[in-house]
Amino acid sequence: MPELPEVETIKNELIPHVVGHCVTGVTLFWEGIVRQPSVEEFRSRLVGQRITGISRRGKYLIFSLSSEEKLIVHLRMTGSLLLKPAPAEPERFIRAILCLDDETAIHFRDLRKFGRMWLTKDENDVLPELGPEPLQADFTPQVLAKLLKNRTAPIKALLIEQNLIAGIGNMYADETLFASGIHPLRPGGSLSPAEVKRLHKAIQQILHLAIGNKGASVDTYFRPGGETGTAHYQFKVAHRLGGDRCPVCGIPIERIAVRNRGTYFCTKCQPWKG
Ligand SMILES: [Zn+2]
Repeated sequence: MPELPEVETIKNELIPHVVGHCVTGVTLFWEGIVRQPSVEEFRSRLVGQRITGISRRGKYLIFSLSSEEKLIVHLRMTGSLLLKPAPAEPERFIRAILCLDDETAIHFRDLRKFGRMWLTKDENDVLPELGPEPLQADFTPQVLAKLLKNRTAPIKALLIEQNLIAGIGNMYADETLFASGIHPLRPGGSLSPAEVKRLHKAIQQILHLAIGNKGASVDTYFRPGGETGTAHYQFKVAHRLGGDRCPVCGIPIERIAVRNRGTYFCTKCQPWKG
C-alpha cells in the first residue's frame, strides 16, 4: 500500500507535468471510484478546471483547482496515478482517465478498486481526522511522547493509526521500530523518553530516505512515469519472507500479526523490555 514516501513521490513527480494544465476530459471505467459528488457532477465540475497545485496530507493527494475546489485522491491498497500520452489505450485495471490540455492524461490504475476520488470545496469535509505530519518541524519528540502517553495499545498498532500520526503504514512502522530497537508489541505508553527520542529520529530518517529512493515497490506501487521506487532495497525487516535473517545479528526474522497486520521484527535486536 502506498504510504507517505510513495504518495509524496507521486506528488513530486506529477507536479512538473500537471500543474498549470487544464482538465479537458474525464473518462470513468468504474464509477465507484468517485465518492463525491455524483458522477455527472464530478465530470462537469472538473472539466475545464486548471490544476493550480498538488499537496499531500497523510496518504491523501490534494489537487487544487482554479475553481477553488479540491480534487482529493486516495490510492488505498493498490492505486497508481500514471502519466500517459492522451490517446493511449487504457491498460488493464485502469478505472479512470483525466485528460489534460497538453495531450497527456492521468490514468488511475487500481487492481483492487479500493482507490477513491472526491471533489469538494473544503477538504476538511472529506479528510478524516489526521494526526501531525511526521516530517514537519512541529512534529518533535515531545509531540510523539504526548501522543503515546498512557496508551496501552501495541506501539506497532499506534504508529499506523492515521489519526495519531499521518502517513505511516505497515512497512515504515516495521522499519522504524527495527531501527529504534523497540519490540512491536510494547504498549505505546511504556516507552522510555530515550526510546521515544530514538523512535522519533528513526521515523524521520526512514521516511526521508524512502522519499529519496522514490518509494518502495514491494507490490503494485509505480511512480507516475511507470518506474518503480527503490526504497525497499533498504528495508531491514519489512516484507522479509520466512527464513530471511536479520541483517544486524543474523537470527531469523519473526513474523507475527499485530491487530491483523503482518509485522516483521527481530527478537534479538528488538527485545521485550516493557
Ligand atoms: Zn537482529
